[in-house]
Amino acid sequence: MTVTTPAKSRPESSPTLLLLGRGVDRDSERGVECPGALPLPSDPSLVERAIKARETLGDKVFILGHHYQRDEVIQFADVTGDSFKLARDAANRPDSPYIIFCGVHFMAESADILTSDAQQVILPDMAAGCSMADMAAIGQVRDCWDVLEDAGLAAGTIPVTYMNSSADIKAFTGSHGGTICTSSNAKTAMQWSFERGERVLFLPDQHLGRNTAVRELGLSLSDCVVYDPHRPNGGLTTEQLRDAKVLLWRGHCSVHGRFQPVHVDLIREKVPGVKVLVHPEVQYEVMEKADLVGSTEKIISIIDAAPAGSAWAIGTELNLVQRLANRYPEKNISYLNSDVCYCATMNRIDLPHLVWALENLVAGTVVNRIQVDPQVARDAKLALDRMLALPGTARD
Ligand code: SF4
Repeated sequence: MTVTTPAKSRPESSPTLLLLGRGVDRDSERGVECPGALPLPSDPSLVERAIKARETLGDKVFILGHHYQRDEVIQFADVTGDSFKLARDAANRPDSPYIIFCGVHFMAESADILTSDAQQVILPDMAAGCSMADMAAIGQVRDCWDVLEDAGLAAGTIPVTYMNSSADIKAFTGSHGGTICTSSNAKTAMQWSFERGERVLFLPDQHLGRNTAVRELGLSLSDCVVYDPHRPNGGLTTEQLRDAKVLLWRGHCSVHGRFQPVHVDLIREKVPGVKVLVHPEVQYEVMEKADLVGSTEKIISIIDAAPAGSAWAIGTELNLVQRLANRYPEKNISYLNSDVCYCATMNRIDLPHLVWALENLVAGTVVNRIQVDPQVARDAKLALDRMLALPGTARD
């Protein structure tokens, strides 16, 4: 099955809720199922089947594993990393015609944008979306821009879009003079934007936008206003739009957004001397209480460099925290939130889906190909290239 993402293909207004088994939106991949025979999770030969298919395909296939993936999938990844690193890793392997992206939909789109036409990107389960990316539909973003134009503010506004967004939103950013950012370079991206405009429209994660503006750039909380795509004019007056330095899109990560300030208090009571390390997608109040803030790559390097016996509570996706705890048994590593919270969509990619994608490739069939519309890809690449040109980014 090939899924093309044409320009303006996403819902023009608020996406409708699709209950499992009761509807399919092929543009967003919500509600889709895998065609053909998916192996049962209880199949005891799954690991053996994956090894066999992997060996048969050799260098023809390159498997990317995001840090938030399950161990059962990560064990087969050729490389692991965050979404941008993985997309670039795929682009640096032009001799592999098949890229299997064990991650979520927007990541596979980015890999398709950055790889050559001779490479095909496969997402083992089309239902692996991202709730944050889905919180900004292209029609909503166009409506927002119309509001800014009507207020005479669009010319002074630069869009800065987080990697965790659909190809459509990246393309909008590219064609409106903006840049993409990661959680590592959001500060540099915002600085770049303030050299070109009076205000930033930050999409789609309000928390990363706020944390960056206030913690990294020294802006005040009142410099930031939240644009709610579900309310007329974003729920803001023209004065509020005009006076804001940063317009924060009302989106968030359903995993990182669950950490609360009380979790920091509780872990400090429970583990004396613990250092709290969180991802910048957490709420501002949580970030304020934490000892350290960093992207997934930074979290890994901080823990890697930490001395034996040190105690850490980490606020990011649980698969990564568990992996770090297993990798460094001499360090006391715990999860910041006492309620277990995996990323539900990341966890859609499991061993049965990976085996299904691999075995289909062995049989000569490409399943679940992610193919971004060429015009969308061109505009999105423009925004990604602007990010690559940001100081320090190319070396990240
Ligand atoms: S962890 Fe959050 S941002 Fe990442 S894929 Fe899951 S919902 Fe999206």
